[in-house]
Amino acid sequence: MYIVLLGPPGSGKGTQAEVLSKAFDIGHLSTGDLLRDILENKDHPLYPKVQVIKEGRLVSDEVVNQVVEDGLDKPKFKNGAIFDGYPRTPAQAAALDRMLAAQGQKIDVVIDLDVTRDVLIYRLLGRLVCPRCKRIFHKRYGLTECPDCGIELVRRGDDNEETILKRFEEYKDKTAVLQDYYKNSPAVYIRLEISDASRTAEDVQEEITERLRQHDVI
Ligand code: AMP
Repeated sequence: MYIVLLGPPGSGKGTQAEVLSKAFDIGHLSTGDLLRDILENKDHPLYPKVQVIKEGRLVSDEVVNQVVEDGLDKPKFKNGAIFDGYPRTPAQAAALDRMLAAQGQKIDVVIDLDVTRDVLIYRLLGRLVCPRCKRIFHKRYGLTECPDCGIELVRRGDDNEETILKRFEEYKDKTAVLQDYYKNSPAVYIRLEISDASRTAEDVQEEITERLRQHDVI
């Protein structure tokens, strides 16, 4: 099973990907996490090419496609993958189709999380992340440490107002067009509209499960 999660920064892709990867026993591939790992390793050959993350701009298709292709070789992807934050451009979507076709596979489901701008900003400005397991929290819950790893939760360097606006622009200019790309593909396309900041990850998860049932995916 191969799933793509579409949606702007803060739409909940990371949180939903965690749940779905366990439900389907498939690997969670977050290009943001993989690229941030490179950003923390000065000796990595791709280190200079990922610096644009700090400005909220997209890393080049060539670099990201390579990172994904290398990543997909890991055993945790033997049953499939849920892609979180990838693809982000039509060139990446085409590259992903080619990578999967080479293994006789294809994207089965696309879940498009359509979240209003004020909810996105509220979530991003309050977002806390565990640096080890990468689990995502919101400061409204008052946690300072990851309940699983026991280490201090941190804010992401690019979760500041200026960079957030740049990331929204990048989404609108380069990624939103993927909605049509996947609507015109054989994949099951599920769109969820979220306009209420109090809506929990569990609510969204339930709606996704219900919609997957309606489409006979589960
Ligand atoms: P994310 O964790 O998905 O919000 O990604 C954080 C940042 O990593 C983005 O703002 C981009 O700079 C970079 N990034 C993540 N995924 C991609 C991608 N598929 N293509 C280009 N840049 C990416």
